[in-house]
Amino acid sequence: MRRKLLVGNWKMNKTPDEAIAFASEIQKEAKFAADQKIDLGIAPTFLCLNDFRKNAPNNILVFAQNVHYEDHGAFTGEVSAAMLKSIRIDGSIIGHSERRTYDNETSKKCAKKIRALLKENLIPLYCVGETEQEFNEGKTKEVILKQLKEGLEDFKKEEMKKIIIAYEPVWSIGTGKNASEEIAENVCKFIREEVEKMIPESSEEVRILYGGSVKPNNIAGYLKQENVDGALVGGASLTPSSFAEMIHALSE
Ligand code: PEP
Repeated sequence: MRRKLLVGNWKMNKTPDEAIAFASEIQKEAKFAADQKIDLGIAPTFLCLNDFRKNAPNNILVFAQNVHYEDHGAFTGEVSAAMLKSIRIDGSIIGHSERRTYDNETSKKCAKKIRALLKENLIPLYCVGETEQEFNEGKTKEVILKQLKEGLEDFKKEEMKKIIIAYEPVWSIGTGKNASEEIAENVCKFIREEVEKMIPESSEEVRILYGGSVKPNNIAGYLKQENVDGALVGGASLTPSSFAEMIHALSE
């Protein structure tokens, strides 16, 4: 049985003081989530990771938004998986569409980052999704299959089970244009089937999230879908009140 997972991606928002304030305001809701067997995660900026980890409830998974694939060395501006682990970070988002668009994050590079995280026993949260043009041209599955093959194909069964996948249609991120529940379920089901073909006997345990304009008033509908195990949420994860509302919506 896959546990529900709600992950907030804060992108380039919040100072360390603001992250600490969020951590203290969410204590009660985190306890409620634990009682309801709902897993929670937050991905703050690198700058806030340490303060957020120290102040957040222990049952909140703390994710970086990016990681480098080497352990150390001459890579200005980068942070390694071992460094994240040294401050008790649980994992990292990999291949978010904003990084694919602005930072030349390719699926092949993502595979190296996922490998680096697994080596440190950290959780990779791998994002896939098609652009609006690709969606309109009916290429969603083709695009996602390429992202899955290039990003994940080399992993073994036990490694694959530790990887979380987020289906995030690029056209729905931050736009208010939600993918319908039906689209989300169809694509998440497709992802599970393709993961199973690539890495047999792994996919039943892999958690697949939907992301793209998820809000307190629409999250429950996605989570009712058989193959949607949770949500990756940007804008609506920024305030403790709306994060809390989503936790409650998931528990109903
Ligand atoms: C995201 O950042 O991954 C995201 C889905 O953003 P939003 O919820 O704001 O669309």
